[in-house]
Amino acid sequence: MKIALIAHDKKKDEIIELAKQYKDVLAGHELYATGTTGTLIMGETGLSIHRMKSGPLGGDQQIGAMLADGQLDLIIFLRDPLTAQPHEPDVSALLRLGDVQRIPLATNARSATVMLEAMKNKIYFA
Ligand code: PGA
Repeated sequence: MKIALIAHDKKKDEIIELAKQYKDVLAGHELYATGTTGTLIMGETGLSIHRMKSGPLGGDQQIGAMLADGQLDLIIFLRDPLTAQPHEPDVSALLRLGDVQRIPLATNARSATVMLEAMKNKIYFA
């Protein structure tokens, strides 16, 4: 599967923890991420990730473009719901396209854990 990983700044520690915990699951898939998230996860886990631009500089839109083309199968996007984001329109657009394409999309770590456990146990996902 093609999987996108994104986390707002206050959620970066959480996505790194998830990536470490599920490294073996994620390693079997093609991974994409926004710039800073991707750099941090690669540095902490050694996973190979296609990095887009940083989210506020267009990375969310690049992931959105992949979504629109039907090129992503699952997204983990750990949003910070308590901090205003300069690129909020890009965030909303990405989430909307996820629903347009009806792909699994987790916006908090516990939802992401449910999806990663399902992948680990080969439930729902290939
Ligand atoms: P970043 O972008 O990984 O480059 O920090 C995430 C975002 O804010 O969308």
